[in-house]
Amino acid sequence: MAGSAKTSAGVYQQYINGEWVGNADGKTFSVIEPATELEMARVLEAGSADVDLAVRAARAAFDSGEWPTKTPYDRAQILFKLAAKVREQLAVLAEVEALNTGKPIIEAEGDIGAVAEVFEYYGGLATKIPGQVNPVSANALSLSLREPIGVAGLIVPWNYPLLMAAWKLGPALAAGCTIVLKPAEQTPLTSLMLAEYFEEVGLPPGVVNVINGFGESCGAPLVAHPLVDKIAFTGSTEVGKSIVKSAADTLKRVTLELGGKSPNIFFADADWEASVDGALFGIFINQGEVCSAGSRILVEKKIYSRFVEAMTEKAKTIKLGPPMDRASKMGPVVNKDQYDRVREYLAIGKTEAKLACGGGRPKEFDKGYYIQPTIFYDVDNSARISREEIFGPVATVIPFEDEGEAIRIANDTPYGLAAAVWSRDIYKAFRVVKSLRAGIVWVNHMQPTCIEAPWGGYKQSGVGRELGPWGIEEYLETKQVHINLDEQPIGWY
Ligand code: ADP
Ligand code: MG
Repeated sequence: MAGSAKTSAGVYQQYINGEWVGNADGKTFSVIEPATELEMARVLEAGSADVDLAVRAARAAFDSGEWPTKTPYDRAQILFKLAAKVREQLAVLAEVEALNTGKPIIEAEGDIGAVAEVFEYYGGLATKIPGQVNPVSANALSLSLREPIGVAGLIVPWNYPLLMAAWKLGPALAAGCTIVLKPAEQTPLTSLMLAEYFEEVGLPPGVVNVINGFGESCGAPLVAHPLVDKIAFTGSTEVGKSIVKSAADTLKRVTLELGGKSPNIFFADADWEASVDGALFGIFINQGEVCSAGSRILVEKKIYSRFVEAMTEKAKTIKLGPPMDRASKMGPVVNKDQYDRVREYLAIGKTEAKLACGGGRPKEFDKGYYIQPTIFYDVDNSARISREEIFGPVATVIPFEDEGEAIRIANDTPYGLAAAVWSRDIYKAFRVVKSLRAGIVWVNHMQPTCIEAPWGGYKQSGVGRELGPWGIEEYLETKQVHINLDEQPIGWY
């Protein structure tokens, strides 16, 4: 038996080498429920000694060969069982995710359903990664073999806690890697719950280890650890840059999914109702705590005033409420830090732009980190609220004259994760699509995320791609094998 996930005092432990274990120094930290500002759990805090233990467990599980040499079929069966377990536990996982992040339960249910789908997708893909025969000389057989990279450190954020973990766990496990997972310190709970299923679904000890801690004291030593072969990270651009620098010392493979300031572009000829709806959905879904949030809303001057008015009217009807209320369309933001940060930007925005709606805390809540859906308009693309990622329910509406200006403003950002364009004119819409420097471009929609399609950023929004077949590539090495078919000596000497 793997022991108990929680200590007798109810503190969540660390999952290392198939066992629930204590940490080196006994430190714990508190997990807060953003709607009530109360503690919902305590978790052991991992430091570098714990990171080292977890990495060594993953290394041993990889080097023993048990996981990487399991047939892809067998690895797939385990991913399918994990998916089934997640579906079976969907209600409880979704509840914990909603309470811990603040997101509405109806969204959390969608997230957890997608977690199961990701495990199923990569279970399916595990058996479909062929090598290749290379066209070399007639006297040789040259092969390319696809092999797992080795030990992968997975560092994930708090906005979609279990889903961002699954985007990495699925392909890493399918490829045959072993893993140290470090969830975000704000939202460790669903990853720990997932670890409670590992033994039952047949994951061998050490294949996935879960430790929790803070960026500097837990994430950074994982990135620097010489026995880790690869880091997959989703989070801020600032931390992404520090990861690249640190990983350089050991030349680890790195994939990064980072920040964004994504343009959502509306031409006058687009469907009116769909546009107004899409502008709001693009920025206010998940309280705006979305890396691909459509935070810069670019609107053609011909419809600009009417569009701001229509958005504002509809934004005022968005139902803010506690995460477990099924009518809630927005909950509180994740924690006090994020709340303070967003409010700072609200203050900045009031000096840079006109405020159409929102701009503060809704009066009906006496606690919880709630922020009103906020729309700023008549603002230039050079304003701070147009350039910096706020990661909250704050939209900036910027007017443009024509197609050329829309493209220029859209691309005038250090980021390049996502973009959307709304128009009925297919010539214009597709010209814009081709001109946008972004990894994901939607036409007449914003935010649909499909497991089968590549996800990742241009420019300072990232390195590499997740999801689809692209996702598993990031966990594979290619080995060239040259088989001599000529029995003669080389004959050089
Ligand atoms: P945010 O500031 O919005 O929380 P971060 O990029 O800081 O976003 O955090 C995303 C993830 O990266 C979290 O799991 C966090 O603990 C981790 N992290 C933060 N700083 C570092 C670091 N220096 N090295 C490795 N991981 C880090
Ligand atoms: Mg940070």
